[in-house]
Amino acid sequence: MTTLLRKPMIWITEQSLVRRLLTQNRVLRRIADRFVAGETLEEGMAAARSLQRAGVAGMLDHLGENVASPGQAAAAADAYIRALKCVGDDPEVDCNISVKLTQLGLDAGIDVCLENVERVLQVASERDPPTLVMIDMEAREYVDGTLAVYLKLRDRYPNVGVCLQAYLHRTTDDAHRIGGPQAIVRMAKGAYLEPPDVAFSDRTEVRKNYARVAAALLAAGSTVHLATHDPRLIEGAKGFIGLRGVAEDRYEFQMLYGVRRDLQQTLVREGLPVRVYIPYGSSWYPYLTRRLAERPANVWFFASNLLRPTG
Ligand SMILES: Cc1cc2nc3c(=O)[nH]c(=O)nc-3n(C[C@H](O)[C@H](O)[C@H](O)COP(=O)(O)OP(=O)(O)OC[C@H]3O[C@@H](n4cnc5c(N)ncnc54)[C@H](O)[C@@H]3O)c2cc1C
Repeated sequence: MTTLLRKPMIWITEQSLVRRLLTQNRVLRRIADRFVAGETLEEGMAAARSLQRAGVAGMLDHLGENVASPGQAAAAADAYIRALKCVGDDPEVDCNISVKLTQLGLDAGIDVCLENVERVLQVASERDPPTLVMIDMEAREYVDGTLAVYLKLRDRYPNVGVCLQAYLHRTTDDAHRIGGPQAIVRMAKGAYLEPPDVAFSDRTEVRKNYARVAAALLAAGSTVHLATHDPRLIEGAKGFIGLRGVAEDRYEFQMLYGVRRDLQQTLVREGLPVRVYIPYGSSWYPYLTRRLAERPANVWFFASNLLRPTG
């Protein structure tokens, strides 16, 4: 009798737990919709076309990172090759791609990763002009490997570029090492939680380092992608570019899908080149947590949705 009574209780508890988890997942999906174009390449391309109509170029990012096996890394390379072909089939759309090296096998070793990136770069190079392949920068333990892969490839593939993170103390030296007319560098503040012995934690310090490194790269003749939504950095960059007469093909402003669309349009109206990073795919969770973490208001929004009664 006791057993009979207990069973439904457990069942009810489990059901409500599952229901709650599913609801939370639905909430997460709803929030993800703001930052992620969709789960498929077609949805990523649809976002690129829609941005193009608003005067904004695109950069496709097939979501995924830290894959467990060389097979998964090769599959990620295949996904990027499909993206490149899709971009190639639609010459009206100005769109390139951005890859994460831990998605292309960096955890399995530099050689596995190199093979995959090179496969992607070969396809990107078949187009005239070649499609740019940018390499995202990930957490601090991957910076050496990422720069090693980039430096190994850039002589043979001028259409490869890499991201540097302004919050890392080492970035000034890295910029000095890779900067120059051959370099295509995306400057971002940095999106991972790093300890104070390797990264500035003060926002003003990060901003100052961003401006210093971006200016040094531009002065060295590098092509710089100013990836930020920070109005002060954007204004500063515009001033520097105007003062130094930086050529139009040496810089562009970049923002994330779903973030500061108003600012994207302001820059477009000013006649400045703007490109938006368009993530798509089913592995959106780590990307979403970074977007939620970098803006407290997002976390409050997220928390209030989770606390709302499930009904
Ligand atoms: C094109 C692009 C590529 C990137 N690539 C990388 C990379 O490879 N590696 C890496 O570590 N980081 C990357 N980042 C992320 C970057 O490092 C920052 O974490 C992110 O851009 C926020 O910094 P911010 O410069 O916009 O300044 P912040 O001071 O963080 O933001 C300035 C303003 O922008 C708005 N904003 C910023 N983020 C959000 C958000 N998530 N939701 C809503 N509003 C927001 C807010 O209005 C905020 O006040 C990239 C960013 C961009 C734009």
